[in-house]
Amino acid sequence: MSTSYQVTDGVAVITLANPPVNGLGQSTRAGIVDGIHKAQSDAAVTAVVIIGSGKVFCGGADIKEFGSPKASAAPDLHVTISAVEQSSKPVVAAIHGVAMGGGLELALGCHYRVVSPGTQIALPEVNIGIVPGAGGTQRLPRVLGVEAALQMITTGASVPSDKLFKAPGQKLFNQLVDGDLLAAAVAFAKGVAAVRPLPSVRDLSVSALADAEAFAKARAELAKTRRNLIAPQRCVDCVEAATKLDLDAGIAFELEVFNGLVTSDQARALRHAFFGERAASKIPDVPDSTTTRKVEKVAVIGAGTMGGGIAMCFLNAGVPVILLEMKQEAIDRGLGIIRKNYESQVSKGKLAQDKYEQRMALLTTTLSYDDIAQADMVIEAVFEDLGVKSQVFTKLDAVMKPGAILASNTSTLDVDKIAEVTQRPGDVVGLHFFSPANVMRLLEVVRSKHTAKDVMATVMQVAKKIKKVAVVSGVCDGFIGNRMFEQYVRQGFFLVEEGATVQQVDKAAEAFGWAMGPFRVGDLAGNDIGFAIRKRRYLEKPDVIYSKVGDAICELGRFGQKVGKGWYDYEVGKREPVPSAEVQAAIDKVRLDKGITARAISDEEIVQRLTLAMVNEGALILAEGIASKASDIDMVYLTGYGFPVYRGGPMLYADMLGLPKVVELMKQFQANPNDDQAFWTPAPLLAKLAAEGKTFC
Ligand code: NAD
Repeated sequence: MSTSYQVTDGVAVITLANPPVNGLGQSTRAGIVDGIHKAQSDAAVTAVVIIGSGKVFCGGADIKEFGSPKASAAPDLHVTISAVEQSSKPVVAAIHGVAMGGGLELALGCHYRVVSPGTQIALPEVNIGIVPGAGGTQRLPRVLGVEAALQMITTGASVPSDKLFKAPGQKLFNQLVDGDLLAAAVAFAKGVAAVRPLPSVRDLSVSALADAEAFAKARAELAKTRRNLIAPQRCVDCVEAATKLDLDAGIAFELEVFNGLVTSDQARALRHAFFGERAASKIPDVPDSTTTRKVEKVAVIGAGTMGGGIAMCFLNAGVPVILLEMKQEAIDRGLGIIRKNYESQVSKGKLAQDKYEQRMALLTTTLSYDDIAQADMVIEAVFEDLGVKSQVFTKLDAVMKPGAILASNTSTLDVDKIAEVTQRPGDVVGLHFFSPANVMRLLEVVRSKHTAKDVMATVMQVAKKIKKVAVVSGVCDGFIGNRMFEQYVRQGFFLVEEGATVQQVDKAAEAFGWAMGPFRVGDLAGNDIGFAIRKRRYLEKPDVIYSKVGDAICELGRFGQKVGKGWYDYEVGKREPVPSAEVQAAIDKVRLDKGITARAISDEEIVQRLTLAMVNEGALILAEGIASKASDIDMVYLTGYGFPVYRGGPMLYADMLGLPKVVELMKQFQANPNDDQAFWTPAPLLAKLAAEGKTFC
C-alpha cells in the first residue's frame, strides 16, 4: 500500500507515500480507505490526520495509471473521498507543498484542513481537457465562493495557500501552520476530537453572488481567452450547477460532464501535449543516469535580437551571464533592449523592481574573449553566416576552459561543420531558441554527429532550468520546425496560385486554430527571409517545382509589416491586415503565366493541404531519425509555432484523421497538376504505418 498508518497520542496519522507526488493511484486510495476503517474500529483513536510524505501533500491522479484500468479500480476516488467524509471521527488534512486536482478534492472531503504557507493549491484538470472529476467543481465554490472558484477551475492556475487563507470569508483552510505541520495537525485534531456534529463542506451553501449573467460573462470571456476550448466552458457549467443543485446531484452532473470530456479529441490532444512535453526530455541513447556538467555561469556572444533574449532566459533563472560583443555601441544597444524589456514588465506589475535589479546585477558585458574563458557554457548568437560563426568558434576553442559547452543558436547552418572548426567537436551543440527568446517556450537542441552524450544530458537539464521545452533535432536544413514549416508555407503559395485568396487561406488556418495564417506570419517575420532562401536554393535548380507568388510580391518590395506592405497592406502604425489589390494582381499574373485557370478551393482542402504537407515532411524527419519520436515533432509545433494545442500537433492530427485517410487525401492532391505532384507521394513510413493500421503517436 502506498500509505502508512500510525497512531500517536490517540490520533491516527495516514501518510500518503507514493513518490514523487503522492499520486492517488489505486494502492494510495486503498490505503486511505483502509486507514479510515482502522481508525473507526479502534476505540483508542479519537481523530485522524492525512498528510503527505516528502515534499508535497498530493499532486492528484497518479499519471502512471492514466488510461489503464487501475485508474478507476476500486476504491475509486469518489468512494475514497466518501469514506473520509463519512468518517465518524474528525479527519484533518495536513497540507504542504502541493495540493492539486484529486489531492485538493481529497482535502475538501476532510472535515478540517490545515496548511503550510506557500503550498500550491490548484485544480489543473482543465489543462488536459477535462473538468475535475471528484467533486472539485462542487466543493471549491462552497469554500471559496463562485468567483474565486471559477477563476481557479477554468484556468487551472495554482494559488498559494497563504493568499487563499487571507481571502475574506474563505472556508478552505482552518489554520495556516508555520513550522512543524504534522505536530500542528495532530494538536489541531486533538482539539476538535470531541466536536459534533462534524463540519462538512457538503453542508455549506454556495454564495448567491453569482447569477446567470455572471456565468454568461465568464463563458464569453473564456471563448476569447481560451479560444475553441471546450473544457473551460464545461467547467463554468459545473460551477453553475453547484449554485443550483445539492452536493450529490452536483457531483453526478460533474461526473457526467467529466465522462463526456475524457474520451473527447480535445482531451486526447491535451493529454498528448502533457505527456509529450515530459517525454521530449528523454533521449533514447542518453540514460537519465548520465553524469552532467555543471553550468553555473553562461557567456552569450552577440547582443542582438536573439543574444539579448537568450541572456534574459538565464538571468530570469538566476544564472550569471556575460555578454560579449564586437563594439561598445552594440553592447549599449543590446543592454538598452534588455532593460526596456524588463522595465515594461515592471510597469505592467509582472516583475518586482527588486527582482529586476537582482537580474541586471547578474549581467556583465565585455569586448574581450579572455573575460568569458571561465564560463561553463557559451551560446553564440552572431550573424547567420558560416564564415563569421567559424571565426567565433575558432576563438572559443582557443580560449574556453576545458569542458565548457560551446553552443550555437544557428537556425539554418550545419552544426556538424561548426563543430569541426574546433578541436573539441564533442563539446559543440546547437541551441536553437525562438524569437522572442525570453518568451517562446521551445528550444530545439540540435545534436550534431559529434555531440557528446553528457553534453546532451547537460543541455536538457539547463533547458529545464530556464523553463524551456527542449526537443532534440538531428542536423538537417531547417531542423524539425522550420523544415516542416517550409512545406506548410509552400502549400500556401500553391493554394493562392490555384485560386484561393490570401485572406481565405489565412482565415481557414486561423479557424483551424493557428494564431495567424501563413501569410500573416510571413508579413510579421519578413517575406524577404524566405525570398533569400528560395533564391539560394531554387534559382540554381530550375527543375524544382514551386510557386513564384512569394517571389512576385518580394520583387514589388512587399517584405512585410516592417515596410508597411507585404501580403497585405498596413496603415501607418497599425497591424491590421488590409487585402491588397496589388498583391492580387501579382498573383493573377503568376497564375496566368503558368496557364492555370483559377478554381474555388474549399476551406477544408486548404487546411488539409497545409497540414498534411507538414505531416508528410514529419514522416520523412522521423524515418531519417532527425526526430526520435512523433510526439517530439508535435511538441515543436505546440510550443514554438502556435499550432492549436487542442489538436495535439500535426502528427497526432494525422493519427486522429486516420493514416489510411491521410494517404488517400495525399493521393488526391498528387493528381493535381498545379501542385508539386512528386511531393505528395506518401513518405514510406507514412504509407507503411497506414497499411499496417498503425499510428505515429
Ligand atoms: P542580430 O543581427 O540581431 O544580432 C547579431 C549580433 O551579433 C549583433 O549585435 C552583432 O553586433 C553581433 N555580432 C556579429 N558578429 C559578431 C562577432 N564576431 N562577435 C561578437 N558579436 C558579433 O541577429 P539575430 O536575429 O539575433 O540572430 C543571431 C543568430 O540567431 C543567427 O544565427 C540567427 O540565425 C539565429 N536565430 C535568429 C532568430 C530570429 O528570429 N531572429 C531565431 C532563431 C535563431
